[in-house]
Amino acid sequence: MQPLPPHRPATDLAQALGFGDPTSGGLVPPIQPSTTYERRPDNQLVAGRLYSRPDNPGYDVVEALLTRLEGGAASAVFSSGMTAATTVFQALKPGDHVIVPQQLYWALRNWLLGWASDWGLRIEAVDQTRPECVAAALRPGETALVWTETPANPTLAVTDLAAVAELARKAGARFAVDSTFATPLLSQPLALGADLVMHSATKYLNGHSDVIAGTLTTRSNDAFWQRILRIRSQGGAVLGPFEAWLLARGLRTLHVRVAAQCRTALALARHFEAHPRIVAVLYPGLEGFPGHAVAARQMSGGFGGMLALRVAGGAEGALRTLSRLRLWKRATSLGGVESLIEHRASLEGPTSPTPPDLLRLSTGLEDAGDLIADLEAALAD
Ligand SMILES: *Cc1c(COP(=O)(O)O)cnc(C)c1O
Repeated sequence: MQPLPPHRPATDLAQALGFGDPTSGGLVPPIQPSTTYERRPDNQLVAGRLYSRPDNPGYDVVEALLTRLEGGAASAVFSSGMTAATTVFQALKPGDHVIVPQQLYWALRNWLLGWASDWGLRIEAVDQTRPECVAAALRPGETALVWTETPANPTLAVTDLAAVAELARKAGARFAVDSTFATPLLSQPLALGADLVMHSATKYLNGHSDVIAGTLTTRSNDAFWQRILRIRSQGGAVLGPFEAWLLARGLRTLHVRVAAQCRTALALARHFEAHPRIVAVLYPGLEGFPGHAVAARQMSGGFGGMLALRVAGGAEGALRTLSRLRLWKRATSLGGVESLIEHRASLEGPTSPTPPDLLRLSTGLEDAGDLIADLEAALAD
């Protein structure tokens, strides 16, 4: 028989890379809830597994899929997106200089400013939509990590991954990317020169708003990656077996969900671009969006399911619109099958850099026309 040509992501996802249950022939991988594993009389482990804090057999399919989709050397699942992200910072050494973006997931921003600084990391936030700002901030020999997020939460700001990767590499710094909004299907940061990719698997990867989880994927299985794995297993930031199973199930439809969500987000962005009550539509797929050219170069297959609307009338106009919606769910988070809308400035509080008139939208799998009609009605006089 001829060997099969390499599979495309849709095939790997739909068939979960062929993972199943070899003992029963079941097509679906089983859940292994055991916390511990038996040794044979000769004191050897049966299958190399020892205890469920280092890992669980249910992680294998998720990690293999992420490694394949991101084109990496290895992946690891975590108990949340935040533990995945903070593990990277914990793997650094006190005194290390770290460059982060000004537009950054809110909880991570708070953790970096509140904890990482206390532990001796020197955190510097720069405008990463302009690579020259990253270049100016890099300190060769001192900067250990450049962290970016693209498209960024909640303004959809775009970082030029290839440009920043090159700058970081020349300065001897690692480059890590929070690619949650882009998913592994629309962007592959490792191919553009990143060393690590992080996802909040709570969002698109699981896709059903019923699991909190995170992932990291590395370009090379180096000493830094081994440090990350030790932090997970010794610190215990592990995902439960049932959550890992749900995540593996959600992943099987990732390509279908993301394609539909990209189409709906673009339809919404185009529809509301010229609306009299909309001050601006923030979406990387719109030609007039500042990061569009870079996004078009480094994303393929779509620009994601996230967009933001800036509503006339400031915070009041935004909150009034929110209050009148009947179909969109007023809730935080993103990437699920139901469409969510949120006034980020209320959640982030008085120190928030988010414009007060901004509503963040996560498109789900409903009919795009229904979603547009609900927003139209909420924006009407
Ligand atoms: C949600 C999110 C996180 C944090 O993930 P959790 O799974 O909630 O811990 C990090 N980055 C981005 C961009 C996110 O949207």
